[in-house]
Amino acid sequence: MSRYIATRAIRGANALVTEAEYMLAKALAEKGPDTPVAFPNTAYYLPVIYGMTGIAVQKLGDLKPVLRHARSLLHPLPAPRHWTPYLGETLDCGMATLLAAEAIEAIRFVYGLQPEPMPGFRLAGGTAFTSPDAGDGREATDGHLNGPIDDIQLRSWGIQLVDGRMPGFAAIVGCAKSNEVAVEIVRQLQRRNILTFLSGNVNGRSIIHQLIEEGVELGYDTYTVPFGTDTISAIYALGFATRSALTFGGLKPGQAREILLYNRERVFAFVLALGEVDDLKYAAAAGAINFGFPVIADTVIPEILPTGITRYEHVVSMPWNEIEGKDDREKAERLVQKCIEVRGVKVKVVDVPVPVPYGSAFEGEVVRKADMRVEFGGKYSRAFEYLRMVDMDEVVDGKVELVGPDFDHIPPQGHMDMGIVVEVAGRQMQKDFEPVLERQIHYFINGASGVQHIGQRDIAWIRISKAAADKGFRLEHLGKILHARFKNDFGAIVDKVQVTIYTDPEPFHYWLAKAREAYDYRNRRLADLTDEKVEEFYSCTLCQSFAPNHVCIVSPERLGLCGAYNWLDCKASFSINPTGPNQPIKLGRLLDPVKGYWEGTNEYARIGSHGAVEKVAMYSIMENPMTACGCFECIVMLIPEANGVMVVSREDPSMTPAGMTFSTLAGIAGGGLQTPGVMGVGKYYLLSPKFIAADGGFKRVVWMSSFLKETMVAELKAVAEREGDPDLIERIADERYVTTVDELLVWLEEHNHPALTMPPIF
Ligand code: SF4
Ligand code: ZN
Repeated sequence: MSRYIATRAIRGANALVTEAEYMLAKALAEKGPDTPVAFPNTAYYLPVIYGMTGIAVQKLGDLKPVLRHARSLLHPLPAPRHWTPYLGETLDCGMATLLAAEAIEAIRFVYGLQPEPMPGFRLAGGTAFTSPDAGDGREATDGHLNGPIDDIQLRSWGIQLVDGRMPGFAAIVGCAKSNEVAVEIVRQLQRRNILTFLSGNVNGRSIIHQLIEEGVELGYDTYTVPFGTDTISAIYALGFATRSALTFGGLKPGQAREILLYNRERVFAFVLALGEVDDLKYAAAAGAINFGFPVIADTVIPEILPTGITRYEHVVSMPWNEIEGKDDREKAERLVQKCIEVRGVKVKVVDVPVPVPYGSAFEGEVVRKADMRVEFGGKYSRAFEYLRMVDMDEVVDGKVELVGPDFDHIPPQGHMDMGIVVEVAGRQMQKDFEPVLERQIHYFINGASGVQHIGQRDIAWIRISKAAADKGFRLEHLGKILHARFKNDFGAIVDKVQVTIYTDPEPFHYWLAKAREAYDYRNRRLADLTDEKVEEFYSCTLCQSFAPNHVCIVSPERLGLCGAYNWLDCKASFSINPTGPNQPIKLGRLLDPVKGYWEGTNEYARIGSHGAVEKVAMYSIMENPMTACGCFECIVMLIPEANGVMVVSREDPSMTPAGMTFSTLAGIAGGGLQTPGVMGVGKYYLLSPKFIAADGGFKRVVWMSSFLKETMVAELKAVAEREGDPDLIERIADERYVTTVDELLVWLEEHNHPALTMPPIF
């Protein structure tokens, strides 16, 4: 243990706790102890404090015991001699620093100083479903940095952390040697799909300033989140880590030890300290080490070697000037590589031969009309994509052909028709996997920086930015991307891939017609696939790395609650990886066709949940409902007064008749527990004839987020007709009109909702 680090961390911690105490005393005097304190859009209060101490801070006054506890963790400054540095003391001071930092940010929220103002700055964030030209609610985030991550984003990243698309996160604190270096470091992290949190400064200059000056898009959409330009805002990274343990690990607030262990073992994160490290940064670093997150510095500082806490180093020094490399890019790559090695982050980089940066970090990137070179599909033209299986000898692996002209003759911001036909062959390939693979085209194409993909099938919509076109991106590169990714990600079922891109009108229309025949066929096949017609369901245990006792049971008529895995996906995944997370569950004897019990599913539920649940009813919310991890698209919850259920989507931040928002409800629904009356589901399950069939089915829905009504208009209309009440959707209340139970009851009466006359739900 370095005496130098201990001394500086203890000094930094003492100073910060004192500062927090001072700020709290001032705030109490000016605002009073009952002033509400909260971070926005989270059910976890001040998450580090909540996780570590169990205190649910809601008012300024609640911070008093927190800071008392922080002070009790402090140790006196070491005497210059006769003192043996002790890691425990440093770690305690680190924890005190985190509690004080979070308290300070909370007080700043009370004064409207968080999120930090940044005039003229625009976050690259928002929801995945909006069109790039539509008003998408981002306006509200203009002019300031991100501040803490909200629960919705936490959950949506959760699934990516689980399935490995996102290997871990990096908390960068400070300021890089130059703007160019800052950009290179972030690009290297993005290439590896590592989520990046930015905070801190050196003499007033922050990496956030550097990246903004270089025009790098920052926000949720680019996996690069600017917290704040001071060191204290790095606390939001640990709030994210703490909530991961609470949300996905099923841990309880106050289980400090377990939460820290969970992070050490399952959350692959590290701190990258750029530039000079001051007392406060040493103190914050000591806080991060509690979580098992090592600190890598680009300056000369003493190192802390592995101890009992971890098998890896806690503090590593890698001075920028001493890193080998011919330019900044190479040096940045080495530095990032070192961080990954120290923490043991698992990273897979696919080499995709395109002239623009490529990685999942660019998936959410939006190409606005003003930045656009050309588009395919959308309002003025048509684009389609069609993947089909053919015989081995019909495919030349790696062949990419463009039939018709490229877009060079199209005027800037123009449009043209285009079709992508992917032909695959493989010994393990099955016709049923075509739609599963075809859906990947969306993610694969979106990975290219400056290329945006929306939709699927014959309503695909692709934009190429001017910047990407200037770098030489052309249509053939779409084919190169698809070849590289299909071979890499689905090598187990796909041996050969060839891609043809059609812009010549005649073959374009020929293939469009062929594609439509295939879509039709698939629709009919999917409609035919009912739970009664198959002999096995599938398990999904992907989320067990976060929620150890949760298992999704996926049937043809009930997809996984994250919405990302349906029965066909699981079947495909099983044949790609027979020992993977999706295993067939032989149904065996049918015990109850109404509630949905089989011998096989019950037995699997017990084994898969490690005994946490005894059985699972596939079609009921009231009796043994399926558990949830935290990734659910919607929450279904009983409203006893209305004799029905409400459905809240994760995109809906408003108040519900249950008196709670999605965020708060999510805390009740997740964690792998069985809670009758509450269930997390994928939104397509709402449309299934098996949706809570044992409890009365879709007619029980009395309230539903308007987001769902608007994004599934046609599908819901079909459900209403199936249920024999074409106006059913209009009878269902939503947050625009109803946010309390009393309002809900009035609405239901006025709109003659069927739930009122149905038998009691329990
Ligand atoms: Fe997780 Fe269930 Fe989705 Fe599988 S299906 S990834 S277990 S939420
Ligand atoms: Zn999950």
